[in-house]
Amino acid sequence: MAYRVTLIPGDGVGPELAEATRRVIDASGAEIEWELQDAGMAVMEAEGTPLPERVLESIRKNKVAIKGPITTPRGGGFRSVNVALRKALDLYACLRPCKHYAGVRTRFENVDLVVVRENTEDLYAGVEFDEGSDEAKEIIALSGARIRGGSAISIKPISAYASERIVDFAFRYAKENGRRKVTAVAKDNIMKATDGLFYRAARKVAKQYEGEVEYDEWLVDAMCMQLVQKPELYDVLVMPNVYGDILSDLCAGLVGGLGVAPGANIGDEVAVFEAIHGSAPKYAGMNKVNPTALILSGVLMLRHLGERDAADRVENAVAAVIAEGKNVTYDMKSNRDDPTAVGTKEMGEAIVGIMNG
Ligand code: NAD
Repeated sequence: MAYRVTLIPGDGVGPELAEATRRVIDASGAEIEWELQDAGMAVMEAEGTPLPERVLESIRKNKVAIKGPITTPRGGGFRSVNVALRKALDLYACLRPCKHYAGVRTRFENVDLVVVRENTEDLYAGVEFDEGSDEAKEIIALSGARIRGGSAISIKPISAYASERIVDFAFRYAKENGRRKVTAVAKDNIMKATDGLFYRAARKVAKQYEGEVEYDEWLVDAMCMQLVQKPELYDVLVMPNVYGDILSDLCAGLVGGLGVAPGANIGDEVAVFEAIHGSAPKYAGMNKVNPTALILSGVLMLRHLGERDAADRVENAVAAVIAEGKNVTYDMKSNRDDPTAVGTKEMGEAIVGIMNG
């Protein structure tokens, strides 16, 4: 069966990575019809918005998209297209598998973790009051003497609705992907209201999966120490937005960093697959950076589509190229100036070569 997938090359190094990824997925045996949609810097100049409605329409229609990174201008300019996409499509679950592949230089070898991060609330809700504002003063007055006068304030909303929805997503993911355990991570000894609510929601959902998937809980600070000491003990981790932001980078670091870390933003209707890393503008157009993270995001996409054999073929070919260590980009060589490092395109072709036998 052929699938239609929206392909957003993005900007910076995005187009080179997207091209390498498309070629690899085309060689996997899955039948994909690509619908190309540009977004980002160049589109802003031509169409007045970096995220035209046509892009959202295409994703809503096809239900699945894969995108290269998109630059967010600093200190002014347009707001993040990546965040806008998540909001517009209610992509409430951020999925970040962190798996070690032999040949990647890391401190740990037995890591195979999946971080599931809530994407819609918490301190990211953007409800903030500047120092000295009327709202900040009102909240300070309401707090009694607990907030120091003159403070700026960010609000941390956590709802039962969003917490149950994300924990259920984590359990479903665990079940569908043969994972044994879901660990809920928050800090209810201090944030009794918000994180207490998160754990209550998590326990309620966990009961529905009793006997199928194990459940446990860690406080976020203790979890960080566990992860840098015994990452092999953990499996699927689920948490509110801010902890998820921090722990997913920590876990990506455990398995070799940005060049190899895939991701997905998933909602009930649609899913958008993308690497964790950004558009690395200084390398744009140089055929230099590592396509692994976006290709592995493509593996997640194939599994999401139910194309498990095609996904395994791509993942095994990526693993083989990395393990051999020959046709890999500069960041995977022990010396970054190693002249034998290959380009983005060549690494993609080496992966295709293995799939074609
Ligand atoms: P970045 O991830 O683009 O790059 C930081 C450094 O990491 C690079 O200079 C490079 O040394 C390394 N790196 C990144 N990707 C790599 C790869 N595939 N292979 C090898 N090395 C790689 O982070 P940044 O410089 O902070 O951000 C650049 C732009 O990307 C910003 O505008 C930012 O807003 C945007 N961004 C977009 C996304 C997204 O589209 N989802 C995510 C993060 C950042």
